[in-house]
Amino acid sequence: MTYEPVIGIETHVELTTASKMFCGCPVDFGAPPNTNVCPVCLGLPGALPVVNGRAVEYAMTIGLALNCTIAGRSVFSRKNYFYPDMPKNYQISQYEEPLCVDGYLDVETDGTASRVGITRVHMEEDTGKSTHVGVGGRIADASHSLIDFNRAGVPLMEVVSEPDIRSAEEARAFVAELRGAVLRLGVSDAKLEEGSMRFDANVSLRAVGAEPFGTKVEVKNMNSLRSLQRALEHEIERQAAILESGGEVLQETRHWDEEAGTTTGMRSKEEAFDYRYFDEPDLVPVEVDDEWRTRVAGALPELPAQARGRYLEMGLDATTAGLLSNDVEVGLVFEAAVATGADAQMVANWLTGEVTALLRREDTTLGATPIDGSVLAELSAMVTDGQLSASAAKDVLAGVLAGEGRPAEVAASRDLIQVSDAGELEPVIDGVLAENDEAVAKLKEGDEKVIGFLVGQVMRATGGKADPGLVNQIIKARVGGG
Ligand code: ADP
Ligand code: ZN
Ligand code: MG
Repeated sequence: MTYEPVIGIETHVELTTASKMFCGCPVDFGAPPNTNVCPVCLGLPGALPVVNGRAVEYAMTIGLALNCTIAGRSVFSRKNYFYPDMPKNYQISQYEEPLCVDGYLDVETDGTASRVGITRVHMEEDTGKSTHVGVGGRIADASHSLIDFNRAGVPLMEVVSEPDIRSAEEARAFVAELRGAVLRLGVSDAKLEEGSMRFDANVSLRAVGAEPFGTKVEVKNMNSLRSLQRALEHEIERQAAILESGGEVLQETRHWDEEAGTTTGMRSKEEAFDYRYFDEPDLVPVEVDDEWRTRVAGALPELPAQARGRYLEMGLDATTAGLLSNDVEVGLVFEAAVATGADAQMVANWLTGEVTALLRREDTTLGATPIDGSVLAELSAMVTDGQLSASAAKDVLAGVLAGEGRPAEVAASRDLIQVSDAGELEPVIDGVLAENDEAVAKLKEGDEKVIGFLVGQVMRATGGKADPGLVNQIIKARVGGG
């Protein structure tokens, strides 16, 4: 029997508003622990919440970008549960009447397009952050735990997808697309590793062709796109093995262990009634009128899908266009370079290749490096003019990233300028031809293969600095004419 995975994803996004969801404390993750707190976000008796209008607007932009209907009226509820990082013993969230409902996000997985339904986008508040001190960082092994309430009350959006996803790759593509949209909207820094964007994946299997869904398992603790895909692949295999041996999948929450590459059971999933939801009596409903909705919709920036379309029209291949459109910072540098005449595919290749690898290695962002549109345009012009070979250009790029100066300076100081002056190359070429009678004879007989060998000899004689295209031309002219 073969099984089809059914996947739905719940994504939490921390918003980069100046202040928290229900109080005036700053949202600032660099601050010393427990300094950005007040009676409201510490849940002290008698303190009253007030809704952050900007957070509502940010949530609306996400909803609109995901093609949702924005509810004219939405309501906050109390979700009751006890945990030390939540000082009120309830989280203010939205339950029966969320701000945004019934949208979709189009994704592309290995060239195949699919539409993933968005059930809802609702507003809530983040909890504090616990640090479990001891081996492994998990509570079970900890000697004690520390709590920082700076994060308590930070505006949080939850985006809930329909169970429309059918593979681990599609789940990854969905989260990548959603992250790209959030970044372009400028409402969150959406850092997966640091948890400003976090996702839980719900997965079940059903026999291929079967109608009803199987029992779902919720998988938590993935903090990269790669770990999302690995966790789902593993979980799909685990469930398939259970079903194949005639067993039943237990409905539960499982914890992904990145190092072991496995999931382990955490707890059986709570039911909604465990939370004793009721409307938050301290807040009035949020009302969004047409004027507000229209204003926010009118200010929506370009989304990844639109940018991708433009990049494809500029002649980029689909993979590169996808990478550039999902990272707005990189995308804008790309556009700036091309606007000043740089070669689009060349610049795109650098950005998605060397530059991305370096940013990852150094754990930094493009804005923190000297690379901008004008640097890439300058470098591209040097290649197009024959001053730099493609491989020398990569060395120059590394030098620019290392802070050695502008491309022209780096190329000069690293001695990478290509010799593309025929007058300078001809004597070297003549020398090489004179020393390689046999190869020259073969070339004269029409054996084009030896030309690569001859060009290689000239490159060696010039320390790799000759312009290979030009060398090729001169050799052909010399031998052809001789
Ligand atoms: P719960 O009540 O357990 O929170 P929801 O119905 O709210 O479940 O769904 C939570 C998430 O799980 C959603 O993203 C939804 O698409 C997904 N989901 C629901 N049922 C299934 C299923 N049978 N298999 C996989 N995912 C599912
Ligand atoms: Zn506060
Ligand atoms: Mg639910």
